Amino acid sequence: MLILVINSGSSSLKYQLIDCEDRSVHAKGMCERIGIDDPIFKHEDANGYKIKEPREMKTHGDAVRIMLETLLDPEHPVIGSLDEIAAVGHRVVHGGPYFSESVLITDEHKEAIRMCYEWCPLHNRANLAGIEVCEEAMPGIPQVGVFDTAFHQTMPPEAYMYGIPYNYYEENAIRRYGFHGTSHEFVSRRAAEMTKHDPETYRLITCHLGNGASFCAIKGGKVIDTSMGLTPLEGIMMGTRCGSIDPAIVLAIGRLGNFTPDQVDDILNKESGVLGISGVSSDFRDVQDAAEAGNERAQLAIKMFCYQAVKIMGSYIAALGGIDTIVFTAGIGENDDIVRKYICDGISYRGLVIDDELNKIRGKEIVLSTEESAVEVFVIPTNEELSIALQTAEVLEIEKCSHL
Ligand code: AMP
Repeated sequence: MLILVINSGSSSLKYQLIDCEDRSVHAKGMCERIGIDDPIFKHEDANGYKIKEPREMKTHGDAVRIMLETLLDPEHPVIGSLDEIAAVGHRVVHGGPYFSESVLITDEHKEAIRMCYEWCPLHNRANLAGIEVCEEAMPGIPQVGVFDTAFHQTMPPEAYMYGIPYNYYEENAIRRYGFHGTSHEFVSRRAAEMTKHDPETYRLITCHLGNGASFCAIKGGKVIDTSMGLTPLEGIMMGTRCGSIDPAIVLAIGRLGNFTPDQVDDILNKESGVLGISGVSSDFRDVQDAAEAGNERAQLAIKMFCYQAVKIMGSYIAALGGIDTIVFTAGIGENDDIVRKYICDGISYRGLVIDDELNKIRGKEIVLSTEESAVEVFVIPTNEELSIALQTAEVLEIEKCSHL
């Protein structure tokens, strides 16, 4: 049962063709620099056939056409006909208050995705463009929207409301939504399989630590709080994003530089975080290398990141009324033993103990906690594409592809 997963960005389109029964990837690829200079097409199939070449791609429609031609290429066919694709699953970043689960896309849903432009203009516009070009290129094939925000819709009002005048919530839907939902959902379902705890009362914190980073507090399978907010800027400081700061700083930066709101937005989203503090890079590997070589600002950036992580997690342990499991995932969470060790040491007051030898393993599913640890610690590699494929199958009630 083949599901085509599409992740459409403002100038890129990534795809994976996944068999959701055995979870194998039949092909994957990426169209980069769509509508700008030097566009590139990359493709790879399960037999090892690879393409990386410049291709003319003015629009997302061109990208989808090239992707489909390649999948159907008689010399290296991945599929014999489009009928073999059971459905297309689209990543949509912001579902606002409208989507608490994945949906089979209708005109009303497209209008609701448009209504979320205000909070995520670049992403949502690109996501909708991806849906519309696929509808045109693959008539009759179901298109499903899978939302980064949907998993978090179970949060209670005391967790999602901000302390600003109520009318901003009523009239403009300003509230916490949270992001990385497909990843938090994927790893939390896997953790529920790995744990010995009762699923009804199971308390866990999932830590998605990548270029973007967020935490999610989950009780009995339902999200009770998450660190990203109205937009993916809130929470822990990230590669280039500032995370939670005193809101008065936003105004101060604007006044100091006489900046427009968009310029301040760029400073907080693209020039802050680990890059802004270290002055080295937004990439943790570079920052760790610099820290090891004695760069004090790089050392500070890593300490700040870990300290903020422990603070957020401590508040979630209180909100959950205790903790059964901590899950690390995404680029840093799956690979960076120094960050994992710092965070776990920060929570050792709960009786959490990890195996330092196992902690050296990178990029694999591992149980990091020791037998005597009072808290389980799992490393679970995330797979957002597979999660989207499985959720798409769920919407279409394809039972052979049960989620986990
Ligand atoms: P993601 O957004 O999930 O792709 O994660 C990207 C982040 O993960 C970057 O900051 C990378 O430096 C970091 N990362 C990836 N691999 C490693 C590694 N082996 N060690 C430390 N950090 C890593």
